Amino acid sequence: MKKHLFHLPDGVIYLDGNSLGPLPIAAAARLDQARDEWADLLITGWNKAGWMAQPQRLGNRIARLIGAADNSVIVGDTLSIKVFQALAAGLNMRPGRQVVLSDNGNFPTDLYMAEGLLRTMGRDLSLKVVDPEDVADHLDDSIAVMMLTEVDYRTGRKHDMAALTRLAHENGAVAMWDLAHSAGALPVDLAACNAELAVGCTYKYLNGGPGAPAFIYVRPDLADSVDPALAGWLGHQAPFAFDLDYRPAEAIGRMRVGTPPVLQMATLEAALDIWDDVSIHDVRARSITLSERFISEVETRCPNLTLASPRNPDERGSQVSFTHPEGYAIMQALIARGVIGDFRAPDAIRFGFTPLYLDEADIVKAAEILEQIMTESLWDNPTYRVRAAVT
Ligand SMILES: *Cc1c(COP(=O)(O)O)cnc(C)c1O
Repeated sequence: MKKHLFHLPDGVIYLDGNSLGPLPIAAAARLDQARDEWADLLITGWNKAGWMAQPQRLGNRIARLIGAADNSVIVGDTLSIKVFQALAAGLNMRPGRQVVLSDNGNFPTDLYMAEGLLRTMGRDLSLKVVDPEDVADHLDDSIAVMMLTEVDYRTGRKHDMAALTRLAHENGAVAMWDLAHSAGALPVDLAACNAELAVGCTYKYLNGGPGAPAFIYVRPDLADSVDPALAGWLGHQAPFAFDLDYRPAEAIGRMRVGTPPVLQMATLEAALDIWDDVSIHDVRARSITLSERFISEVETRCPNLTLASPRNPDERGSQVSFTHPEGYAIMQALIARGVIGDFRAPDAIRFGFTPLYLDEADIVKAAEILEQIMTESLWDNPTYRVRAAVT
């Protein structure tokens, strides 16, 4: 759909845009511009180049992609930090309740951040982690916050966000969603589902670049009363009054913490330009076509690989995983032949489908290469068993 707008190395079929999106060609020029602003404007760039307003401007552009109102999303920090901040805010909305409910398909950092937060809050709080299919059964009047990631990072299994949010609300719990594998992958309608809080990242399907800032959403009717928890100076009503007392800024502005990453926001801005004339519904439809084609090609060509993702495309996000005891070596053999996916322990090889820069010819070619690796046991090579730090 937009392949010409991305830099993709020759001979590479990139099936890992669910982990780190590729470089939008315009991002390089936008980064040069930001460098020049820094060089020439020095500290006046905060005003003259609009750096200080950028977290809100970018937040508004992301809001459009996740069904959120203007001024309800803001960018900054990393997703781990935003998880901490959102969960703290959610817990403070339900002071009489003690339990955070999550599932074991969640990304570990979300669970780690929750554990760390609960330890420091010093109330009698606990984290309850259940199987993804059992979340609904555990929603009751003990749950303060239901904290879930919509799409499982390993298998692509997708929760029914609207139904679970409704059930959380029927039980008096706050709903908090991590959209890391949803934003830019599939339509999200935060306003319709009425969740109180959401977070997500911009370097996966949104292509903001390695280290691009995360985003946070607070439902507009709560934004003026929400406790920001990480009360940083840029979330203050008047940061440059240098007051010794913290007074939260209006609405979503209070979820800012410290100095925003200006260079990284420049690349994100260029990446978001691409989304201006793309319909997320078209992206989703194309992603389903690509993933269905990949599953059918791989199952025909590679009978020893086991599909680990839901077979029904409506029940998965935009990635597909297969398991095999030699998954790690198989993925290394794929990467050596230009097909870049990734590996998630213990045995899953994972492929992301990103229609902005992938077409059916790429998918079939990737399946052909995988078939050759499997039928000729090309993965059976000691160099493919050496584990790198990032898998
Ligand atoms: C990718 C991802 C993260 C990563 O968090 P960072 O702080 O950006 O490293 C967190 N949670 C989920 C659900 C993710 O998919």
